Amino acid sequence: MNILELEHVSVAYGKGKPAVEDVSFSVPEKSIVAIVGESGSGKSSLLRAVMGLLPSGGEVSGGTILFEGRDLDSLTRQQRRQIRGKDMAMIFQNAGEYLNPRRKVGAQYLETLGCHLDLPRTELKKLALDMLAALKLTDGERIMNSYPFQLSGGMKQRAAIAMAMSLNPRLLLADEPTSALDVTTQAQVVQELIQARDRMGTAIVAVTHNMGAASRIADYIVVMQNGTIREHGTRDQVIQAPASGYTKQLLAAAPALK
Ligand code: ADP
Ligand code: MG
Repeated sequence: MNILELEHVSVAYGKGKPAVEDVSFSVPEKSIVAIVGESGSGKSSLLRAVMGLLPSGGEVSGGTILFEGRDLDSLTRQQRRQIRGKDMAMIFQNAGEYLNPRRKVGAQYLETLGCHLDLPRTELKKLALDMLAALKLTDGERIMNSYPFQLSGGMKQRAAIAMAMSLNPRLLLADEPTSALDVTTQAQVVQELIQARDRMGTAIVAVTHNMGAASRIADYIVVMQNGTIREHGTRDQVIQAPASGYTKQLLAAAPALK
């Protein structure tokens, strides 16, 4: 079964050419789908449309988004809010976007959990610390007591990933989750995402501009350029027998692709 289905989805900001145009693909349960494409190809707009968090001025201007068979457009704002965070969660391109700079990480974390779980604060805190530990952030107490600016980029990003994964969503949307990190931390975060899928069956849609990264983690690859899909298929189809010239270009630019 597919956890997510996009049918002819378009996203527009005002009147000009849509940022995303007539995009269709499916995300099978428990699979990892990578969306690959250069900057400006509409990847972030597409993920935000699925999450229901387009910036003001942006709207889904056509098509249908089905989450577990339900048309997201038919839901009330309240129903949508309940799905967000609990059933589907998003790691934003830049963790700083997600964390409020004026509040301690722990306060934000517990508030996110508290929106969906009717548990005492001590239980919520335990859950948060467990998830940070699962992401190899063993000094969870210190992280919870820090403001975002007191943490390294890698720690912030992993704290944001922990928050996104804490409610055990069935679908995780990850927008360039590692592009702001150094190479070692990148590899760790990628491992953590793969483990989430393996341990909990989380389906993941990961956006990247790097074909090498996509080929390492994805079961399926969607190649986007200029708001439209150039090609999509299983990882092996796209890597070993690319059909479009643009995919071949991306492959040529990916170092040491196996
Ligand atoms: P990507 O994530 O692939 O770099 P984006 O979805 O961010 O692509 O952007 C795709 C296009 O959508 C951009 O070229 C831009 O024209 C438009 N766009 C994105 N965000 C906004 C916004 N907040 N307001 C107006 N236009 C936007
Ligand atoms: Mg983007």
